[in-house]
Order: sequence, then C-alpha cells, then structure tokens
Amino acid sequence: MAVDISDEDLLARYPGYAIDHDTRARYRGWLEHVMLFDRCATCATWHEPPGPICPTCWSTDIEPTPIAGTGTIHLAITLRQGPPVEGVDYSTPYPVVVVELDEQPDLRMSGTVVGADNSEIVIGRRVHLDWALRRGAPFPVFRLDDQHGADQPGASS
Ligand SMILES: [Zn+2]
Repeated sequence: MAVDISDEDLLARYPGYAIDHDTRARYRGWLEHVMLFDRCATCATWHEPPGPICPTCWSTDIEPTPIAGTGTIHLAITLRQGPPVEGVDYSTPYPVVVVELDEQPDLRMSGTVVGADNSEIVIGRRVHLDWALRRGAPFPVFRLDDQHGADQPGASS
C-alpha cells in the first residue's frame, strides 16, 4: 500500500501539510488515490484524526485502512474568503463539507465538493470520494451521487 518514496519526498509533494509519524501513511495513500483512516486491529473501531493509540480500547495495534469513500453530508458551509490556495475560488463561493462516512457512525471527513452547483450541496446528500490535483499532487474531493445536470470533468474511475 505504501508508495515507495522517502519521507523527504513525501513532504515535498505536500508542502504545508502536517505530515508526521501518525499521518504519513495517509499522505502516501493519497499518492495512490487511496484514502486511509486509522483502524484498531484489536477492537475494529475507526478513528480520526490518526493517532498511535486506539481511543476506544487503548491498543497500539493501529492499521491505516482504506475507506470506501462513500458517505452523507453532515455539515455544509461556503467560504467567501480565506488564504490563497491553488484551485480554490472564493468568489463562487468555495464549498466545504463534513461527511459522515459509511464505515462507522460519527466517523467524519472534511473536504470540498467539486462538479456541483453550491445550491445542490446540502446536508443529507450522498457523496463519494474522488481525486483532484493540487500543486501536481493528488488531493481528495467529494462528488455528489446522482448529480443533476452537471458535467463531471476530470472524473476518474
Ligand atoms: Zn481499539
């Protein structure tokens, strides 16, 4: 599962990201378009954010494990201003969602939604993970399931 690059190369691919011992597996997964969440090998619960100890049973047997990438929008906001980031257009404005993942209740992931009108990005909509490029490196985004009308440029399968 791990992309065979050095930690230094990983940091260079994702400048400005908080990559450390607990999160480096996640970002290596991004390079292969695989979204990894920590899962306890002892009690099978998922946790976010990544960490060295299971908060449920205190096991240290933690395994970065791929998620399906499907879920339901739990929270949706739009940002009208913020720091300059490639691919982020605050004039539209820029949508940010928190998605409750199907793997486990309360397991959530934040991100943006691409390829949809902001009026369609509402709490309760089903979404699935996709990948965009940011500064030339894979970056996770969400797309609406059953999208109405919009093209889906750049959709990968
Ligand atoms: Zn556990």
